[in-house]
Amino acid sequence: MDDIIQENEALKKRLQELTAEAVNNETILKRTQARELTLLRADSLAQLLRAMVDGLRESYSLDAVSVVLLDPQHEIRHLLVAGGDRPEEFKQIFFVDSLISLAPQLAALHKPWLGPFVGADHPLLFPGVPNLKSVALLPLPRKDLATGALCFGSRDPARFTRHHGTDFLAHLGAVAAVCIENAVNRARLMRAGITDFLTGWHNRRYMQQRLKEELARAQRRDGTIACLMIDIDRFKSINDGYGHLAGDNALKEIAHRVESQIRSMDTAARFGGDELAILLPEANAAEAAKLAERIREAIAAAPFALTPQIERTMTVSVGVAAVCPGRLDSDLKAVADRLLADADAALYRAKALGRNRVQVGAG
Ligand code: GH3
Ligand code: MG
Repeated sequence: MDDIIQENEALKKRLQELTAEAVNNETILKRTQARELTLLRADSLAQLLRAMVDGLRESYSLDAVSVVLLDPQHEIRHLLVAGGDRPEEFKQIFFVDSLISLAPQLAALHKPWLGPFVGADHPLLFPGVPNLKSVALLPLPRKDLATGALCFGSRDPARFTRHHGTDFLAHLGAVAAVCIENAVNRARLMRAGITDFLTGWHNRRYMQQRLKEELARAQRRDGTIACLMIDIDRFKSINDGYGHLAGDNALKEIAHRVESQIRSMDTAARFGGDELAILLPEANAAEAAKLAERIREAIAAAPFALTPQIERTMTVSVGVAAVCPGRLDSDLKAVADRLLADADAALYRAKALGRNRVQVGAG
């Protein structure tokens, strides 16, 4: 009888232990899932990178987290810039041409590496974080290749050792890699959707979005905002006379000359076929007209090489308009439409008056 009671007690104890372990495992699983969901839910590349470094450091209570990303074409950095972010502000993200440049282990990292912080190997991964004692280096796999690494650093020597299981970490690395690939693809698509292929300028959609943002800014500051509508004169005759490719070359070169005249804060967009639009924040009609005249001159001043053999002088007509959105203007979309319509009407007048000229619209 005593035996049975004793055995029963032992079984109860074991059951309690198993239950506690299961609860613990479930908690770890839930926490891991929550971390992975944060990565999966990131709206943009920048947000994802922040979730990876700051989010994981906090939720795992680590002393340092950094991410190494292979970016030999600088594409990821360009995509960040295009999204309005500055890659240099991501202090814990290292964009590299080859993985070996930061730590020898990264060159052949096929599964997570856990072990002591080694002074000869690891400092470049965690600059400015002293006294680290153990590290975990997780590959970010794509197919069979590592596209980077997620690096965890801890001041606790027992935090990451060779004896720890690595399944959870390998999974986290795989999820992070998919999230990065996804975010890069999304950023690529977004960029393609707002960029004109021929000139590399923004397109009309981007310009209209930007115009709304700039108008809101001008409204807050009681500022003005101006717009130039530029249309190539008799462009059809270039296509008809020398072919479509020659027309494309002329268009690119015109965009180039316009670009050389505008300020870095101005937004240039290809508005339609041979129509370009420039948005000038913090400029009034007179200043915009001056710039328009400079652009007109820069284009008319020297002939264009349409093909290696053929050069031709080209001209543009420009319509200028400006607005000062009042504090009470609640419908900024209507203000935007009016600004574009005024610039367009002025452009139409410039054409009617004989082309190769600048006209300033009502405003
Ligand atoms: P206007 O002085 O009145 O502006 O005369 P235009 O000949 O320039 O007339 P319009 O602006 O109506 O014609 C624009 C032409 O631009 C028509 C179109 O075939 C051509 N075009 C539009 N997009 C492209 C392009 O991407 N490449 C080339 N080569 N031609 C284009
Ligand atoms: Mg034209």
